[in-house]
Amino acid sequence: AQFVVGLTGGIGSGKTTVSDLFATRQIVVVDADLVAREVVEPGEPLLDTLADTFGTDILHPNGRLNRAALRQLVFSDSSKKEQLNQLMHPAIRARLLSQLEEARSPYVILSAPLLFENQLDTYCLRTLVVDVPESVQIERTMQRDDVDLAQVQAIMQAQWSRQQRLDKATEVIDNSLPIDTLDARVEALHQFYLQLSEQ
Ligand code: ATP
Repeated sequence: AQFVVGLTGGIGSGKTTVSDLFATRQIVVVDADLVAREVVEPGEPLLDTLADTFGTDILHPNGRLNRAALRQLVFSDSSKKEQLNQLMHPAIRARLLSQLEEARSPYVILSAPLLFENQLDTYCLRTLVVDVPESVQIERTMQRDDVDLAQVQAIMQAQWSRQQRLDKATEVIDNSLPIDTLDARVEALHQFYLQLSEQ
């Protein structure tokens, strides 16, 4: 599809909840988190590169990536972390772009927590931000993931602020309201994007 709509929002804002509602309308959703996992599946050239670069200790005995081991390795070493990013980003980007291109729906959603941070919005004609107050982000994430406040706050620190996202968005969907009110608002956005994609 030519018409790409970027979907983003802070941790726990409801990106998946919203993208599922587009998917039920037969809109293809390309998810950057899923793609980031795909590129390091066994058999992918990037996994071999990672093992060559960081050692086979980052693999499980069955050959799959040991995420915890890799995280541990780069955690306190910023140059290793940088090296990892330099390897991961081009591979993720290439696969994202090919999935966007292959998508056969009137428009395609590119869902990425770090859409703006990683400049993925350069591929998007519109950007939809799922917005909730920070207190709601924290509450919902802690409930969903069984993590503590400090862990959620650390992730929020690594993301843009609510205001930065709102400033960049072409559309905003308020997800502080009850979940059963979302569908109608997604439908309105869907009609809007359909109309734009026809022009
Ligand atoms: P992440 O960035 O962590 O992947 P996300 O932005 O994809 O998160 P979701 O997983 O969709 O967010 O939503 C976070 C949690 O909040 C989920 O448990 C979801 O069921 C819940 N949730 C989403 N929208 C609402 C809502 N309007 N009201 C109440 N709970 C909601």
